[in-house]
This record gives sequence, structure tokens and C-alpha cells, in this order.
Amino acid sequence: MNLIFLGPPGAGKGTMASRLAQDKGIPHISTGDIFRENINNGTDLGKKVKSILDSGDLVPDELTVELVKDRLNQGDVSNGFILDGFPRTIPQAEALEDFASIDAVILFTLPDEEIVKRLSGRRVHKPSGRTYHILFSPPKVPGKDDVTGEELIQRGDDSEESIRNRLDVYRKQTQPLVDFYRKKNLLKEVDAGPAPDEVYEKLTANLP
Ligand code: AMP
Repeated sequence: MNLIFLGPPGAGKGTMASRLAQDKGIPHISTGDIFRENINNGTDLGKKVKSILDSGDLVPDELTVELVKDRLNQGDVSNGFILDGFPRTIPQAEALEDFASIDAVILFTLPDEEIVKRLSGRRVHKPSGRTYHILFSPPKVPGKDDVTGEELIQRGDDSEESIRNRLDVYRKQTQPLVDFYRKKNLLKEVDAGPAPDEVYEKLTANLP
């Protein structure tokens, strides 16, 4: 099952993708995670994209497409994959058609005020990727990871200015993909507003 998770930042795509990937035994491929890993490891790619991610702009299409193409060439995708955060532009979606076939595109929907609320309260345990929310899913001890007790951080691009830019970029560059995939009859909508377990239930009920 080859899936794309589409939707605004903060809709919970990453959380749902990692849960579904684990249940189905297929890889969760997040371009944002790949970029952040490269930044943390100080690779050439990381150095190239750091300021782009911090501002909330998009990494150039050619670079991102090559990265995903390479990733989909690895053996672990033979039973399927979940693309989370890719494609994000029409040129990326068109390029993807040349090297992968997609079974469904899940669109997670959430109103703007809710997006800002979720992103500004998000905290992350960097080594494990565990995420918390200061209001909706707080850690047991404020500012500390439940498992290791280590410090939680705020993602660089979860600042208010960057959030506003990411929403703007989403509207201008990524939203056109909704029509692109609707016309191909691949689009399935899931309301990302309810609690995670309920969203997950709706998600799995919508899968082909
Ligand atoms: P995410 O974790 O999906 O919110 O992505 C974080 C950041 O990584 C985005 O704000 C972009 O700067 C970059 N990024 C992730 N995926 C893509 C993509 N498909 N195309 C361009 N830039 C991307």
C-alpha cells in the first residue's frame, strides 16, 4: 500500500504516519525528518538546507525529488510506504508519477487557529523524536522527556513567525495538490481535529 499523507503543518501527519507504519510494517518516509537528521549530523545537505527549514520555506524541488527517488529505491518499500510531507508542490507530484504509483492520498484537515495552537505548544525530545504538547499532551514533568528525563526542545521552525510563513507556503504551494489528487480519484479526507485515537480509527477505515 503506497500512501501519501497530505495536510497543513501541525495536523498530526507525522504522528499518524509513524503509528500506521508500525502497524502495517511499512516505512514512514518523512522528508522533513530526513532534512532535520542531516542538519543534526552536520552533513553537506544539512548545511545547505538549514536556513531554509528555519524560515519555513521549501527546499528546492530538484533536491527534494532526488532524495525521495533514492529513498524509494531501497528494498524496504516493496510492501508499501507512507510519504509524509512529500510531495509539497505540483512539480514534485508530477515528478513522483515517474517513479512511484500511489494507491491513496490522505488529506488531514484542520482549521488555521487550531494549527497555530498546536504548533506553538509542540515540544520535542530530539534524540527519540517523541513529541508532546504543553496543553494537549504534556510531559509528566514540564520540559522533560517521560522516558529519559532529558530536556525537551521547541523545533526551530515552530516559532510564531516561521509558523505563519509555513501556513502561507502551504496555502500557496501545497494546497493545489488537493485538486491534483482529487481529479485522480485518490483523495480521502480525514478530520484531524479529534483526539489521536479517533483520528487513527477514521484513517484506517478510509484506507483502500
Ligand atoms: P515537515 O517536518 O514536514 O513540517 O517539514 C519541515 C521543513 O522541511 C519544511 O518546512 C520544509 O522547509 C522542508 N521540507 C519538508 N518536505 C519538503 C518537501 N517535500 N519539499 C520542500 N521542502 C520540504
